[in-house]
Amino acid sequence: MVLFCLVKSKPHFKKKSSDGFLRSHRDGEHFANHPFLKRFPFAVRFQVFYDDVDLVNPLGSKVKIHEIGNFCYMILNIPPLENSSQKNIFPFAIVKTKHLQEYGFDFIFKEFMKELRILESEEGMLLDIPHRPGFRVHGTVVTLCADTKGAHEIGGFMSPSATKLCRLCEIIRADIRNHPTSDNVVLRSRRSIDEQAQYMSENCPNGDPSTGIKGICPLNDSSCFHIGENFILDAMHDIPEGISPFCLKLCLREWNIHKKEYGLSADFINERIRSFHYGRYDSENKPSPKFTDANLRELGNYSTKQRAGQNLCLLRNFLLMFADKIPEDDKHFRFLILFLSICDIIFSPEVTIAHCNILKVMISEFFEQFNLLFPETQPINKMHHLIHYPQMIKMHGPPIRYWCMRFESFHYVLKRRAQFIGNYINICKSLASHVQRLHCLNVMEKEILCTNKIFGPFEAGKSNLSFADVIALLPVSLHREISLDPSFKNSVHKWVKFQGWEYRPRRIIVIKKSYETESGLPKFTLITNIIVQNNSTIFLVLSVLKTVSYETDYHSYLVEERSQEQFLFLKMEATNDEIKMWNIDDVEVFLKSKGFDENVTNILKGKFMNVVLREILYKSYLILYYSKGNEIDGESFLILNDVEVASMGFKIGPASKLRKLLEKLRSADSIAGNHTIINEPNETGTTLRIVIPSTSTSEIPVPSTSESQESTAEQGAPNVMEILKCSQKGKAIVFNYIERNEDFVTHSERIEIVNIVCNHMVECNQQKHYPSVNTKHMYAAAIIKSFPCLATKHTNQDGGVSFNHDVFYHPVAGGFIENKIKEIRRKEGIRKRKPNGLSKNKESDGIAGEKKKRIKKIKKGVVPEDKLPAADGFDEEIMKSMVEWMKVHVVSVNNKAKIVEYMEKTFDFRDRESTFRFKCVSEILVEYPRFMDCDEGSLILRDFHQKYPDKHFSFKSRFLDRFSAPLRFLAKSGNKNVPKSSDDSMNSLILCLQLMPAVYNVKKASFESKLDRLFHLVKENASISAIAKAKDVVHHKQPFLIVVGSLEHPLSFNLILDFSVIPLGSDCSRAFNVLFASFFVFRLEFPKNLDKFFLFLDSLSFKYS
Ligand SMILES: [Zn+2]
Repeated sequence: MVLFCLVKSKPHFKKKSSDGFLRSHRDGEHFANHPFLKRFPFAVRFQVFYDDVDLVNPLGSKVKIHEIGNFCYMILNIPPLENSSQKNIFPFAIVKTKHLQEYGFDFIFKEFMKELRILESEEGMLLDIPHRPGFRVHGTVVTLCADTKGAHEIGGFMSPSATKLCRLCEIIRADIRNHPTSDNVVLRSRRSIDEQAQYMSENCPNGDPSTGIKGICPLNDSSCFHIGENFILDAMHDIPEGISPFCLKLCLREWNIHKKEYGLSADFINERIRSFHYGRYDSENKPSPKFTDANLRELGNYSTKQRAGQNLCLLRNFLLMFADKIPEDDKHFRFLILFLSICDIIFSPEVTIAHCNILKVMISEFFEQFNLLFPETQPINKMHHLIHYPQMIKMHGPPIRYWCMRFESFHYVLKRRAQFIGNYINICKSLASHVQRLHCLNVMEKEILCTNKIFGPFEAGKSNLSFADVIALLPVSLHREISLDPSFKNSVHKWVKFQGWEYRPRRIIVIKKSYETESGLPKFTLITNIIVQNNSTIFLVLSVLKTVSYETDYHSYLVEERSQEQFLFLKMEATNDEIKMWNIDDVEVFLKSKGFDENVTNILKGKFMNVVLREILYKSYLILYYSKGNEIDGESFLILNDVEVASMGFKIGPASKLRKLLEKLRSADSIAGNHTIINEPNETGTTLRIVIPSTSTSEIPVPSTSESQESTAEQGAPNVMEILKCSQKGKAIVFNYIERNEDFVTHSERIEIVNIVCNHMVECNQQKHYPSVNTKHMYAAAIIKSFPCLATKHTNQDGGVSFNHDVFYHPVAGGFIENKIKEIRRKEGIRKRKPNGLSKNKESDGIAGEKKKRIKKIKKGVVPEDKLPAADGFDEEIMKSMVEWMKVHVVSVNNKAKIVEYMEKTFDFRDRESTFRFKCVSEILVEYPRFMDCDEGSLILRDFHQKYPDKHFSFKSRFLDRFSAPLRFLAKSGNKNVPKSSDDSMNSLILCLQLMPAVYNVKKASFESKLDRLFHLVKENASISAIAKAKDVVHHKQPFLIVVGSLEHPLSFNLILDFSVIPLGSDCSRAFNVLFASFFVFRLEFPKNLDKFFLFLDSLSFKYS
């Protein structure tokens, strides 16, 4: 039935990726080496799945009675995107678990195997389809997925608690720790399992503990499938429900017991989990704040009391939630970051072989760290499973294509139905007929495979828009780039769903991946508008974000909105990454369009009973199933040779015409093959057509022109041994390596080698921080030349062995060298390459990002002094002595000039220390007390101007002169109270606050409280320092002004920084200037609710200068 629908609905089939990525089973080694699939590449590939479901409340008394086993399959030929839809999961048996335990699995698979044997036979299965007489399909089971317990039961293995705990290899429990890779484990195979099962049935019918075999897998009856060759593990049960809570709990326990100073108590953790701002995509999986101190401290309790999805969400956001509390050199913290990098590859929807090799090295390092940090803890089974992942991904593609997560969601359908009917008599039958009805409905309603575009509601008043209306909505820079058809009607939507992904304004999408940009950082964009044309085509208006850096400690990218906004216009189109199947009528139409007459199509129809046509990139070619006697069954029309064409009974004319057409189609195919490499589909399976406004081309990475110059400039490959010998640490590595009898390098040595080599590369390379691809390849090759044991061994299909340096450098996967260079760039603040190939320091870049980044740095745990970057341009000793001198010399007429001079000279030093050493303003003020008593805050203004030399915030000319009069006019016409202060600037500032929509729209706080965050009024004889000490730390966290006197008659102004008071005199305009500068000099955030006001002033002073 399913097969029938599949054929009828002209499905899109997944094509092999041609760009070296593994995206699905189709791209893996398993498909390539499968004998049956080699002969029938278009055979239907089944993925069978089994799991137990509790139908009733898991805490109730009837749990075990109403537990059912659910058997489903998926068809892997269908593209992963469509397979993620629930309607493409086909259940084939529902049975009570207790019956499975009683009678085994054989009776379930009996019927299934009958049909499977027909599908696997030479003739295949005959389907009765109108217009397509004699259509035959082939098919086989390629994988069997289940959770650990289920997989062991079905596969005939003893339970996972047996000594031989793994279904893929014969490792014993005590050895888990000592096998960080799968290199030295004995893998199970078809032969070993059959022999062991034979031995078991003769000698120990209850299972043989020495082999871990207990029975025979019913699927072994298949001619192609054997449990010994089912190299599959389930990522969902292994990671979110296994290693992830295990590692989190171990680290949290350590921090809770031994590192009390971090403050990671259960209450604190719960509070952070509760108050964290989860994105929309995570909102369904918010972790529950259920930690208790007792639970955290309990030895051997690895449960976080979360569902798989919640665990995954907690793991992904863990560093964002807690990294600020943990020093960056904490060993457990590094361990967790390493684990996150491993998860990144495992959960990625597309990986390369190089990623698998890197994964293998990282897993091995993970084990090493684990053994070091937790020598007492027995690793769980799932940690052992991890070592099989690199090989598994190479064979079957990304684990998220065959993990249980999708199937688990199908359980929900069953559970809901069972609870709804509430009658548990023969519940299996009730559920089975329910899912059958559901599938019938799917089939009747629509084609079995289709993912519709789904549109959310219109934005109010924005439906049925003409071309001109749309233009008016869009930023000016896009006006010339819009590719809308003017004759169609458009609408603006609140959200759309396209190919299973939901798009909404203010959501972020990736338009360029890290390996596609020059900086090595991905390019993010923010959706600003969603326009749908003619109710069918979706266009996104995107604002490009600036990717500032990759923050290792947070395991995330730091992005910011650009000061000068840049927009893109994006048409959402499905990729042509699939094969379309046509029936014989379509072929007839196609051939007629190519000028073949009735006669030829009749011959074709007579000769070939089954026809499949595939169309790639608008160029079609034919694949014909030559079914008569199955002479060339399943082979494509394209490979019909001239003799075969001649033997088909055509007249000379049509035959040569057909030959010519075939030739043309073949060459079109090869062109199409090349084309897909250029036209990279993004993660969501969508081809992005990007229109970049011509005004902003400066930001787009241009392919380096200096590449060729450089390769000539660099002669001879580097000698890594020699490079290492130049440093103390390197020398030790070389010495130890030569001393050793065995050929190996430890992980810490490998990391140090990469450090030294990369620093050398940056120093010696002409292009400094942006070495060319060639250079990186050269250094990577040099490393494995000096240390052959670090090379990755690659065995090709014919058994030939070759070595490569993928893990050190690979253009797509990155590798250790690429990562290290990115880290160097981040640490040294190198943001962009200048056209001449030299790097540019970020100091001259925009200030907003500067500020954001520094604030984060200040919050972070203490950075040891020795980690400071090398001093450049100043002598540290001299700087320190100047600072000491200033500490003890109070301002006087005689030494004022000297203080100003010293402050100027120590500016760079201070700037660097503010980044790496000082954690708050008070610390800076203790070190530089002259900020407080010299000339009413003038040193703050001086620092500000030194930091941004060409950007003078002329408050008077840019704000007061331009806005005072209009503001007053606006206030009068809007019937607002015009404040009556004797100071004009104060009047204007208050009015501006009052009239600015971004400020009055904040309803949480009253206007008085907002004003109070700027000007805090006190009586004439009040003690200002006492008020500063007793201030409300929430509302007055940021700097503000204390005004002595009244609004009508302000007498003097004082700046409050932390708890210190800086008198600023009686001029409001100047006092405000100092306040404004202090945000930048001390790197502070603008006050809450007033940030828009300050940003407005910020833009006045910086943007239009
Ligand atoms: Zn194993």
